[in-house]
Amino acid sequence: MKLDNMFKKMKPAAAVRGGASAGKPEVPEGLLRRCNKCHGAIIAREVEEQYYICPKCGGYFHVPSNRRISMIADPGTFQEWDKEMPAGNPLQFRGYQEKLAQLRKKTGLKEAVITGECHIEGYRTAIAVCDGRFLMASMGETVGEKLTRCIERATEKQISVVILACSGGARMQEGIVSLMQMAKVSAALRRHSDAGLLYISVLTDPTMGGVTASFAMQGDVILAEPGALIGFAGPRVIEQTIRQKLPKGFQSAEFLLEHGFLDAIVQRQEMKRELGKFLRLHSENCGAEAEVVQKITESRCNTIEKESNESGQSTVCKVSSERSFTVGLLKKSCKKSAGKPEERMESQDAWQRVQCSRSADRPVGMDYIEALFTDFIELHGDRQFGDDAAIRGGIAYFRGKPVTVIAQQKGTTTKENIACNFGMPKPEGYRKALRLMQQAEKFHRPVICFVDTPGAFCGMEAEERGQGEAIARNLFTLTGLRTPVLTVITGEGGSGGALALAVADEVWMLENSVYSILSPEGFASILWKDASRAKEAANVMRLTAQDLQKQGIIERVFPEGEHYTREHMEPVTELLGAAMEQFLQQQSRQTDEERLKCRYARFRKF
Ligand SMILES: [Zn+2]
Repeated sequence: MKLDNMFKKMKPAAAVRGGASAGKPEVPEGLLRRCNKCHGAIIAREVEEQYYICPKCGGYFHVPSNRRISMIADPGTFQEWDKEMPAGNPLQFRGYQEKLAQLRKKTGLKEAVITGECHIEGYRTAIAVCDGRFLMASMGETVGEKLTRCIERATEKQISVVILACSGGARMQEGIVSLMQMAKVSAALRRHSDAGLLYISVLTDPTMGGVTASFAMQGDVILAEPGALIGFAGPRVIEQTIRQKLPKGFQSAEFLLEHGFLDAIVQRQEMKRELGKFLRLHSENCGAEAEVVQKITESRCNTIEKESNESGQSTVCKVSSERSFTVGLLKKSCKKSAGKPEERMESQDAWQRVQCSRSADRPVGMDYIEALFTDFIELHGDRQFGDDAAIRGGIAYFRGKPVTVIAQQKGTTTKENIACNFGMPKPEGYRKALRLMQQAEKFHRPVICFVDTPGAFCGMEAEERGQGEAIARNLFTLTGLRTPVLTVITGEGGSGGALALAVADEVWMLENSVYSILSPEGFASILWKDASRAKEAANVMRLTAQDLQKQGIIERVFPEGEHYTREHMEPVTELLGAAMEQFLQQQSRQTDEERLKCRYARFRKF
């Protein structure tokens, strides 16, 4: 029978962390057993009472759905939905009913999915768990119907959905009706999403076929267990089609993360805690917490406003009188890169700032995320091609309020520099940023971007994947993004590569950062056919924060103080933090329409 063949093909696939060839670790019958991956002797009860992980090799065993729920739900909170649901046999497929009856008896399950409601780390959530013991958790009419009702009920109750998937795909015995479940569940998830609710998809070993091609890949957040096999076509099918052996680790969770399809890989023991973090970030309670913070913020903001009014300078933001910086300090700040003080003439300032903005000990993107935000959860991938290390992003709290934060990252060591491509993002980086911005819009989170890039990567593969299109789409989407957007240029603001994260309600710059159409070297080489005239170019390009503020390109400039490095960034982040708080406060008083109008006008004037 074709179907059985397919499942046989799936078996080695349903393997383990570490690759498809390693064999499938099942907890065998009896008390003392052998792990079928490492062949180590294990005490089955101990493994089953814990996390179904081999204590010898760390291999993940498949988990029955009831145990899965107890690993994730707060004790005693799970209430099952639609426990009894009559199963159909749309093809009148011979032996199917008998097979189902047999499996019910053997597993004690009614079908391949359990749905219900529970609390996870205190947050009320709809939950669905697939069980691979029941026909490889393939999705037939009953599975589709249970999932759909679960999602519909979650929409009604305005709660999040968590689905722990594992599946061989659609259920062949039910034919086209099974295929329709993919569309039905997707439609329910679309409504749930349109209601502004969170769906977290957790992929476990194996998640294949029609399930991958529907609900498994539709999460706002997609997590996976280490080593899980995830794919559309099974490895055997691919190998037969292409008549080649697949490389080790192909279609593993790690492979998917690298190719941009997962937000993160989460260890089984950590799953509950991680889910709890996401649920908290998206919960209403967190709005209540934010309200308290808002009150504190208001009083702080009043102080800031008062002080900046007194100083009569809108350009220099003062947090308190002992922490005021003046532009004068800047003249001392670039000693390292600017040569002898007497050489620093007024006309050289722009070039000095260019060098300062590129200085190796200057803070990088992740430094700002660490300094200004708490509980940062990094999200990976563009869901299309890859995960670009030159753009990092995720969700975090800014003074009690959830925000989406995105930062261009240069790295601090040579190894990191290379991994981050020296801060030159590829199309997948911009597409990841776009995905995170759209996610922020759905959940009404402000977006805060940190820009520091010599420019978008100019390479063959970047062109093949549409570097121009990726940047263009960001500009297009950002102009209409219905949530506050703030961009801070912290180092180099190179061309379209910077603008792709800077179509914002306000753009701020650090005193020695620069923002320009291209590098001074490039400018000199194009206009004067002489790259060595970069210094001269820097001075005519008007690329300094001070110049750009005069032109109305940016709103604020933040003084850096003397020799601004990673070790001494606190005074600057303190100023930035206070100003960000003030910005978010102002933005919260605006409607989306007002904000979009202002954003349009901000760029319309040029
Ligand atoms: Zn083992």
